[in-house]
Amino acid sequence: MTIEVGILGATGMVGQQFIALLAAHPWFKVAWLGASERSAGKAYRDACAWRLPAPLPDAVARLTVDAATPGRAPKLVFSGLDSSVAGDIEGAFAQAGHLIVSNSRNYRMEADVPLLIAEVNADHLALLKGQESRGWKGRIVTNPNCVVVVYAMALAPLRQFGLKTSILTSLQAISGAGYPGVPSWDILGNVIPFIGGGEEEKIETETNKILGALKGGVVENHPVTVSAAVTRVPVQNGHTASIAVALEQRPAADAIIAAWNAFRGKPQELDLPSAPAQPIVYLAESNRPQPALDANRDGGMTVTVGRLRRCPVLDFKFVALGHNTIRGAAGAAILNAELMHCEGLL
Ligand code: NAP
Repeated sequence: MTIEVGILGATGMVGQQFIALLAAHPWFKVAWLGASERSAGKAYRDACAWRLPAPLPDAVARLTVDAATPGRAPKLVFSGLDSSVAGDIEGAFAQAGHLIVSNSRNYRMEADVPLLIAEVNADHLALLKGQESRGWKGRIVTNPNCVVVVYAMALAPLRQFGLKTSILTSLQAISGAGYPGVPSWDILGNVIPFIGGGEEEKIETETNKILGALKGGVVENHPVTVSAAVTRVPVQNGHTASIAVALEQRPAADAIIAAWNAFRGKPQELDLPSAPAQPIVYLAESNRPQPALDANRDGGMTVTVGRLRRCPVLDFKFVALGHNTIRGAAGAAILNAELMHCEGLL
């Protein structure tokens, strides 16, 4: 079985990661690439500044980049489009009958659009039915902001302890800003305490939708109150977050660690090709997780957590880490599409 797929924003950081991850995919084959007018008409190898250590597959390098207009792409299209243009373009593709699996923020908070982490809220795919009333022949499914993927995965197993409040400070890699991204003069030897595009607001809202429960066909947001502060740091790949939580119950630290290590979801149950065997791994070493050592664990699809300790202000604090362009973007989207295939939604 081969399912042809397209990639919108194929020349960007997330687009490149899609190509690398799909190079040997057992089900999906890259057949179409779309980007801006700057790239359209060029061979992919000439349109793109390939930034990944994995080699650019020959078959993809030779494809001609198309304009980001619907009609010629396969039904299933992954999107890594810049958010300044993703709203209109993804909408046009959905209208024309494509199933868009998007990394952009534009549709994430719409009530009829699943904001999906396959392990956490696979049941939110039921929202897709509501998109019938938009008159689209296709559908849009989104995955979260790259910090939110790591954060919501780390928080998901803590819901059972009565998750009340959480404070997060992120240390985000430069690949999260796309290519060429942050100027070297700004980031080398430096920390930038601001990321534009509403980064903190995304963390403070998307998390509640993902952790929320589907009731009567709508998502009832999880009540956890989140406060986020974000920073950009001179790390290539891997977003780290220092997180504190207040819980209604008073679990022992061992119970929290056991909940993280035991956490599994639909992708593990279905043994999906991109599913990590253990989505959250607690590292007991006192100086882990670290992006240089842990971001690529299990192909970049595992979230690592460590340094769980008592917090004198809230109840517990810990550190979480995930690969921002894999678990936080392309890998998460591919996992979502694999899940949708198994659920008969492609
Ligand atoms: P990027 O490197 O800047 O790539 C942006 C892509 O959008 C390029 O392929 C670009 O094509 C295309 N594009 C820009 N303007 C266009 C237009 N007018 N028409 C059609 N295509 C256009 O950005 P990125 O880091 O890959 O991020 C892509 C999206 O994923 C963003 O919405 C971002 O917020 C989200 N995201 C990123 C990460 C991450 O870690 N990087 C994680 C999660 C989500 P050209 O090369 O032709 O200009």
